[in-house]
Amino acid sequence: MERIIGVIGAGTMGTGIAQVAARHGCRVIVHDDKPASLERGRGLLAGALGALVEKARLAPGQAAAIEERITWTDQLGPLASAAVVIEAIIEDLAAKQHVFRALEDVVGPDCILATNTSSLAVSGMARGLRQAGRFAGLHFFNPVPAMKLVEVIRGEATAPSVAERLVDMMKDWGKVPVEVRDVPGFIVNRVARPFYAEGFAALDEGEADAATIDRVLQDCGGFRLGPLALADMIGHDINYAAASGVYAAYDGRTRFRPQPLQARLVETGALGRKAGRGIYDDAAPKPVARLLPPGIVSEVRQGPVALTGGLAAGGAAAELPVDAYEADGVLLMLADWRRAATLERMLGRPVVLFDLCRDFETAPTLAFAGSPGVTPDMTAKAAAFAGLCGKAAVGIPDRPGLLALRVWAQLANAAADAVADGVARAGDVDLAMRFGTNYPEGPIALARRLGVDFMASALRNVAAETGDDIYRPEALVDL
Ligand code: NAD
Repeated sequence: MERIIGVIGAGTMGTGIAQVAARHGCRVIVHDDKPASLERGRGLLAGALGALVEKARLAPGQAAAIEERITWTDQLGPLASAAVVIEAIIEDLAAKQHVFRALEDVVGPDCILATNTSSLAVSGMARGLRQAGRFAGLHFFNPVPAMKLVEVIRGEATAPSVAERLVDMMKDWGKVPVEVRDVPGFIVNRVARPFYAEGFAALDEGEADAATIDRVLQDCGGFRLGPLALADMIGHDINYAAASGVYAAYDGRTRFRPQPLQARLVETGALGRKAGRGIYDDAAPKPVARLLPPGIVSEVRQGPVALTGGLAAGGAAAELPVDAYEADGVLLMLADWRRAATLERMLGRPVVLFDLCRDFETAPTLAFAGSPGVTPDMTAKAAAFAGLCGKAAVGIPDRPGLLALRVWAQLANAAADAVADGVARAGDVDLAMRFGTNYPEGPIALARRLGVDFMASALRNVAAETGDDIYRPEALVDL
């Protein structure tokens, strides 16, 4: 069924939305109040379509048909026949409200009005409209043609049928829509906060460099890009504004606290790639120095057998980590929720502790922390063990929660907190994080797969050792 879609604002987002709508057979009318912006938008679209044709992802005829289905105008009148109008102008409440009031005089009574705002309250924007029931948020992600997630936001007044129609339309456009309550940051910008915050916090501690932190989160955590490299790419001004906006909107609830290092980067103009200077000097991560396996471990034994004596003496046999290995007399453990130093105290012998890998089978690197008693020879044996598993080895500080485990646990915590807050269902929160941020797995699914108790124990330990309530895992435990 051919529908007429109105798009207001011919910028990055408006042009992308128009492209997707036209690609799925809609006629699109793009309105911008500045003729120069219309010209630029038309150029952006032509460039995007040209690139797709060049990569053979679109036939030249299809590209021409898309362009033919889109008209560009600096008038609002042509939007009279639109079934849905999606606004994507500057992020300014007064400007957006002004546009919607003007639209109400133009469009028909059944036309749905939607905003692509990232940070403004949908309910607040709807106030003053004659028919607030037909108004909702439709939050696309950049670049619109590539990013599948669309958050469909129900304001206080949004009619359920309007949200449903938008969900159906997004499915027709090949998108993954999730219904979200109207809260600051919606799902993605709220739940993703710890990904960045934990990267900055680890760097600020001064014991691991940026390339190591990013590498561990990429190789072991399974993320496409580490948080520091990603923040450099996004721009620290944009990322810090998002973090501060969410923090302020929740009246400073500690879970959303921005990191001081982010503020310092913004203050000093080290804004990331666009400034040529950010966390990485040339705004590009350098390869991390890896500990290459110096030799082969002659014997590896798996299981708790070798540990029972020490643990029984400590009276902690019930908390024995299952994944313990003995390699030439060196005790290796996988992603326990305690620090290596704590395990050394419990067991009465040095411990090499490997950080969590989202998928130990496919992870190219094992990251490990040594307890205080670990000698260089033991470190070499740990690296050799990694080599035996076909993986590189990277040394990391013995901090509570290590790196990848802490990031995933805190993401699961934030996801569970959003569920507890009624923002969206657990399955939708996971979908949003997979399709809005390209995470390899939903944080809630991952916590359930690895054990909610295990993740909660790790967070409790971080909270106790850092004295920071931000890590308290109540929501995760109640999941
Ligand atoms: P942009 O600056 O690229 O484009 C904004 C366009 O709106 C410009 O062409 C401008 O001429 C036009 N405009 C401004 N005031 C107007 C008015 N009163 N009437 C008609 N047109 C007007 O901005 P963008 O990055 O495309 O963002 C647009 C919206 O989408 C914002 O609300 C933003 O928060 C949201 N958003 C942006 C992203 C992103 O990554 N860029 C992601 C999700 C949501």
